Amino acid sequence: TPVVEYRDVRKQYGNFTALDGVSARVNRGEVLCLIGPSGSGKSTLLRTTNALEVIDGGQLYFDGHPLPSSKAEIRKVRQRMGMVFQSFELFPHKTVLENITIGPLTVLGISEAEANARARVLLEKVGLTDKADRYPANLSGGQQQRVAIARALAMEPEVMLFDEPTSALDPETIGEVLNVMKRLADEGMTMVVVTHEMSFARRVADWVVVFDHGKIVEQGPPAQIFDAP
Ligand code: ADP
Ligand code: ADP
Repeated sequence: TPVVEYRDVRKQYGNFTALDGVSARVNRGEVLCLIGPSGSGKSTLLRTTNALEVIDGGQLYFDGHPLPSSKAEIRKVRQRMGMVFQSFELFPHKTVLENITIGPLTVLGISEAEANARARVLLEKVGLTDKADRYPANLSGGQQQRVAIARALAMEPEVMLFDEPTSALDPETIGEVLNVMKRLADEGMTMVVVTHEMSFARRVADWVVVFDHGKIVEQGPPAQIFDAP
């Protein structure tokens, strides 16, 4: 079964149709990239995945089950998905280490020692071992985004959702974030990525979905999307 499946998904904002008949899926261990012009519905689809946006038509399946509608059930499902936003959204008054441990400590109820150990492993994975005691404001954008990725991973999600993770970054720090994402993909993480980084999509995606005006205009493997004559 796919980890996430969108079937004929529709989303309205008043009279405006943001998503119209969108069907796609993400298989386990694969990377789905959502591309297309600004305002075409990529972020809206991503945000339906964990019910940050509620769909108005069609069906959405997570791990083979329809996305629940009750608040308590949605919260449980959300804990199984990691999300990384364009704007990092770290806790400014917590250190890097605390930003990563807070989810596991408060939600998973593991011990502080275990949470710290887990955070250290993740800091190494994102190349920030020496920044554990810093505050977010003292890091570059690229470093903050890598902390945000580590924070999401600390919950041991089954899928990672990325909403234009490099769009707010200085050009010189984009590569370090994309490299971390590429490594995650190589390790078998299931990922849905909204991005304007075409070279990343071409190199890393297993499947690419192209949006325009709330509809999918094309989908397929990157070679077909990017190399078609
Ligand atoms: P649907 O188009 O509704 O997904 P199928 O499941 O029969 O119908 O898929 C049609 C084709 O599209 C198959 O060859 C399938 O391998 C391919 N396909 C669709 N989505 C993906 C995906 N996310 N990853 C890989 N292949 C996919
Ligand atoms: P993309 O991610 O492709 O840039 P979005 O999914 O963010 O596009 O937006 C798709 C369309 O839906 C845009 O026209 C946007 O203005 C509109 N939209 C998104 N969120 C809202 C909202 N909360 N209320 C009204 N319109 C919205």
